[in-house]
Amino acid sequence: MRSNIRQNRRHLIAGTFGRLTVFKDSSKRTPGGHVIWLCVCSCGNPNIKEVSTKNLTSGSTKSCGCLQKESVTTHGCTGTRIYGIWVNMKARCYSRKSKYYENYGARGIKVCPPWLNNFLTFKSWALRNGYQDNLTIDRINNDGNYEPSNCQWLTKSENSKKARRDRKIERIIKIIKIINVKILKSGGHGLYDNRPPKIKKTPYPPSSIETAPGGGYGLK
Ligand SMILES: [Zn+2]
Repeated sequence: MRSNIRQNRRHLIAGTFGRLTVFKDSSKRTPGGHVIWLCVCSCGNPNIKEVSTKNLTSGSTKSCGCLQKESVTTHGCTGTRIYGIWVNMKARCYSRKSKYYENYGARGIKVCPPWLNNFLTFKSWALRNGYQDNLTIDRINNDGNYEPSNCQWLTKSENSKKARRDRKIERIIKIIKIINVKILKSGGHGLYDNRPPKIKKTPYPPSSIETAPGGGYGLK
């Protein structure tokens, strides 16, 4: 029994519980006789945290306190749908690991700083602008950023319909650009050329006098 306890004690060293990693027995004991361990937190806090075996193994202590602080700044929204939308939006724009990065971050799409740095700012904009649990975030201008002036909430089907339309428009613009280059290379005016158009001199309309029946200076 005693050797079992000793093994368990050793077993906790180097063990990870949430953000905490156990590195030493503090030699202190709880009133109930539980070992109090010295732990470091992966958040980077240099202070050592003392946690009992019970609190570590039951999961009641998982960090130096940083997790609770974070949950206050997200008002306990971690895990909610809207929080997921915020996390995924940032990932699309800034995480090369995201499978959507290519269509967002790689294209220069960004999240405006007030939203990027503060979930609650994003959440409060969302709630004031029609967010509902069946809606998805849409950028009105497909080349624009995630920011209040360029975002709205659409149903999933509206959003994908719009995405298809945007892709179609992009294809058409691409084709126009190719045609334009070809026309410009061949010396002509492009379809969207910035040079002022040549003014066509419209022939002066024949006056009614000239066209008067009989060809003379007839009066109508
Ligand atoms: Zn921490």
